[in-house]
Amino acid sequence: MSEAPKRPKFPLQLDRLTPPAKGREVLRPQRPVQQAAMAATQRVVPTGLGLDSAGVRQRMVDRLRSGGVRDELVLGAMARVPRHAFVDTALVNQAYEDTSLPIGLGQTISKPSVVARMIELLMASPAARTRRTLGRTLEIGTGCGYQAAVLAQLSRQVLSVERLKPLHDKARELLAPLRLTDIRLVYGDGMRGHPPNAPYDSIISAAGGDNLPQAWLDQLAVGGRLVAPVQRAAGQGQVLVVVDRTEGGYERTVHEAVLFVPLKSGTD
Ligand code: SAH
Repeated sequence: MSEAPKRPKFPLQLDRLTPPAKGREVLRPQRPVQQAAMAATQRVVPTGLGLDSAGVRQRMVDRLRSGGVRDELVLGAMARVPRHAFVDTALVNQAYEDTSLPIGLGQTISKPSVVARMIELLMASPAARTRRTLGRTLEIGTGCGYQAAVLAQLSRQVLSVERLKPLHDKARELLAPLRLTDIRLVYGDGMRGHPPNAPYDSIISAAGGDNLPQAWLDQLAVGGRLVAPVQRAAGQGQVLVVVDRTEGGYERTVHEAVLFVPLKSGTD
């Protein structure tokens, strides 16, 4: 009597399973269980958000869209940048709410809706619409670097200036893992712009002064656009101001009320 071939009851080496006999169903694991268990122990979840930060971020983008942001390029950029990586661990659960959050030294990371709105205004200039990018961008007020990362998605090059050294250093650290190539951080007084790289196609300020510094206007390229918060008459709050530089001079339009940290001169 010939012996029946021995079959293991539980094939442990699942990756070496032979194809099932025709008509027999087999549950196919995606990879060997041991490997999966090993991978699970090695997986690093960097924040309290779990593995689904892309999902949470997409919901933020959906809210921005229903709140009136129309430019899909801007929404796409907001969907790619992990805002939770720019806030304190203790605040991570609020990272995708539409709120500004403290980043230290009395400064804040701007609200997502305001970041999106300002970048949408920049993208709506005739030149940016034709190019479909912001071109060479100057940001005043790097803070933690979040907006710089969003700008980098839409610019040929971003240069961002910060007057507080600890924040400049922090932004450098937080931006490094994102491996954005065309972004330069400068420690200095952004009220002077950054003449070595001028002119800029797009200028955006994350801090509001009483006036627009002349240096920004001088460093704006012809065909370029600037967007910044500006203080109205004393006690009347800030408004967003857009300036377009044309062959004939400057055209200024005033938009909605906003609330930004003050633009200060010099460095600390
Ligand atoms: N861009 C940030 C917002 C930072 S808050 C974001 O992604 O959310 C605004 C920043 O502007 C602060 O860090 C403040 O220190 C900086 N700031 C104010 N006046 C400045 C100046 N003259 N030059 C450069 N940075 C300035």
